[in-house]
Amino acid sequence: MRTLNLTPLAREVLQKRYLARNYRGETIETPADLFDRVAWTVAEADRLFDAGAAVGETAARFESAMTSLEFLPNSPCLMNAGRPLGQLAACFVLPVEDNLESIFQSLKDAALIHRTGGGTGFSFGRLRPTGDTIFPASGVTGGPVSFIRLFDSATHLIDRNRIRPGANMGVLHVSHPDIETFITAKRDHGLLRNFNLSVSLDDHFIDCVRADRDYPLVHPRTGAIVKHRSGVALLQLMAESAWATGDPGILFIDRINRANPTPEQGLLEATNPCGEQPLLPHESCTLGSINLTRMLNGTTLDTGKLESTAHLAVHFLDNVVEVNRHPTAQTEEWSRMNRKIGLGVMGFADMLILMGIPYQSRQAVELAESIMSCIQRAAEDASAELAARRGNFPAFHRSVFPARGVKRRRNATLTTVAPTGTISILAGVSSSVEPVFAFDGQRRIAGERYTDLHPIYARYRREGRPIDKTIFQTAWDVSPHWHLKIQAAFQKYTDNAVSKTVNLPETITAEKIRDLFMDAAGMDLKGVTVYRDQSHPDQILSACSLK
Ligand code: ADP
Repeated sequence: MRTLNLTPLAREVLQKRYLARNYRGETIETPADLFDRVAWTVAEADRLFDAGAAVGETAARFESAMTSLEFLPNSPCLMNAGRPLGQLAACFVLPVEDNLESIFQSLKDAALIHRTGGGTGFSFGRLRPTGDTIFPASGVTGGPVSFIRLFDSATHLIDRNRIRPGANMGVLHVSHPDIETFITAKRDHGLLRNFNLSVSLDDHFIDCVRADRDYPLVHPRTGAIVKHRSGVALLQLMAESAWATGDPGILFIDRINRANPTPEQGLLEATNPCGEQPLLPHESCTLGSINLTRMLNGTTLDTGKLESTAHLAVHFLDNVVEVNRHPTAQTEEWSRMNRKIGLGVMGFADMLILMGIPYQSRQAVELAESIMSCIQRAAEDASAELAARRGNFPAFHRSVFPARGVKRRRNATLTTVAPTGTISILAGVSSSVEPVFAFDGQRRIAGERYTDLHPIYARYRREGRPIDKTIFQTAWDVSPHWHLKIQAAFQKYTDNAVSKTVNLPETITAEKIRDLFMDAAGMDLKGVTVYRDQSHPDQILSACSLK
């Protein structure tokens, strides 16, 4: 058996959260057993398409990709594959229609999803605005934010029994009459701890900001314009709230829908909690990430290895869609219809350090593009090959692909750059495509503090090698515009979206954040999220810039 090269922190996280336990709460597997359990459960799907499939060989390849830390699937897959819950997807979106049945149905479905470690996103834009009449009773509604508070309290209340704290995304379109209450919700209603909030901006809104014009707010039920607001003033309010709390983030919703592979099935209105995965109501997505530090041959990118790893990962993730045990009948139906998967990367910043390339550089941007285009191409090939043997995704003929001349496609989407918050810790590398947060600092994982000395930095120090400050850049050493440039480079070849936080110095002004939002609007991004240093009372990560 392969020896596992896990950091002490990775072992601790596995022990606390991932390893199977018996009814007394005692751990009953080792990390090696975990990867064996996941590999076999996922490989078994091959048998559904070919009774004589060499499942053992596939399981060995999956296991090797995971134990070598070259590829890891999202947390629910590691936790639940081959275990009673059997729910393997990280991301879900649920509908919220303007009636109590729909609201409380989704509240229940969200609880069932959170129980399995999945995150949920909702668009609250169909809910009638504050003060609107409720029929047949002669009451008035508290509007979308009052329902977000309800979802947040419910999530918070049952947190203790869950695999991990529940995470939600609440989205509101900028044209909703309650938009100002929504934008300031985190400032006005406490933290809404289990929610991220995002405002959906359409192209018309961006045009209004550019031309300094008023933007109409529209009643979601009647379609009537109820008032106008200055586009610039609304964006300024978003920037002020983001300055104070980090929320709301921004979604460029028209850009997101231009990339919607199945527009006949409806508009994309919401994303998963961290924003990287737009989904239709009831859809889910399984994510997986390639560890880029393992794709190096010395100090150069091994594109052959990157391609073959992406190929194997698509096989893995398509199998996950097959064996996933869904929390509700509707998520099963929708997820199987479009078979969305999201392959991404982690360890990008560490890879750059190993290659001696500064994060804030043209070379890094070019490398990001070539990595992601290689993964995207390999994923398309792999999905076409799977489709030849297993069939196209069921809604293929109603998707955008036939008109583009694509004949075979097993999955409506293939690529997503996820935050890899936990799996990057398991792999012992920098998360996602983010710069290193701190080379010598502390992390908070699931409410606990961990001392965190960056492994490459630690090795350099041990070996007495000089620390080149242009290479060992932290998130705060990188200028906001360069954060966006790296995000855009990955987005260019990503079907879904790229999770990225633009880290800002404590002293930045709200006006600068507003300008940054407009920069992002001009960069073909699907969204933007900022975080100003020290703006969150729970911030434990302490950044120690080397400068
Ligand atoms: P991981 O590294 O644990 O696999 P990521 O940090 O990449 O997960 O997050 C991917 C997605 O998983 C998020 O966008 C969200 O949909 C879901 N997710 C992350 N953290 C949580 C959580 N605490 N509770 C529920 N879902 C979560």
